Amino acid sequence: MRIDVVTIFPGVFPGPLGVGTLGRARERGLVDLAVWDLREFSSDRHRTVDDIPYGGGAGMVMAPEPLVRAVEAIRAARTAGGHSESPAVVLTTPQGERLTQARARTLAARPHLIVVCGRYEGVDERVVEVLEAEEVSIGDYVLSGGELAAMVIIEAVARLVPGVVGDAESVARDSFSEGLLDHPSYTRPAVFRGRAVPEVLLSGHHEAIRRWRAREALRRTLLRRPDLIDEAALDAEARAFLTELRNRDG
Ligand code: SAM
Repeated sequence: MRIDVVTIFPGVFPGPLGVGTLGRARERGLVDLAVWDLREFSSDRHRTVDDIPYGGGAGMVMAPEPLVRAVEAIRAARTAGGHSESPAVVLTTPQGERLTQARARTLAARPHLIVVCGRYEGVDERVVEVLEAEEVSIGDYVLSGGELAAMVIIEAVARLVPGVVGDAESVARDSFSEGLLDHPSYTRPAVFRGRAVPEVLLSGHHEAIRRWRAREALRRTLLRRPDLIDEAALDAEARAFLTELRNRDG
């Protein structure tokens, strides 16, 4: 997968995207990350990329021309490189659709993403229309810029690209992948500060462990994120567990 980032702070990348799982995926060529300095696409000698807002008010707005020019240059470079499918343009904004695992999965299916980092009061509204950008938020709070949001989006998307995480099964079991939170995990020692690991996990009985984990994932989701339960596709076993948990606790 190819990911291009447009930012006025190219120096903050790769940051956390250069280490661990994603760092290795980049070394292996599974994820190709390129960072573009928006100021290179400004047409004035001060490399200006913002301007005062029409109608007045506080703050500056990112001007449309450098942003559109940057994305068009990336598209042109990709087409020259022999890639025909048009990239998805993702604009980071607190006003976008909130990032979920499902959205990350949809984006991971695209071979090429261009992620635009906003700054100041945000970008000129016409950029969204001209670039047919998908507006993505990482949550209901406001950051000073889109760089951290871009990193969150890229990390969530890239780990779903086949081969990036060595154990595909672990990605499939992660929280939200099947609509529920993940089950609790333990490692050695078997007793830590007087707290013992649940016995079943030491039993070596694979079917009992599988059932315990399925049940604990359900219990935890019911307790912490009951809103997820209604949307989750539960099999017969999970529905039976759920009835049992509700009857016992309710
Ligand atoms: N005035 C804007 C508003 O209230 O919607 C906020 C602009 S914010 C200070 C500057 C930039 O940070 C945004 O253009 C966006 O790129 C990024 N940003 C801030 N919060 C974000 C969030 N929750 N998700 C994604 N991007 C965010």
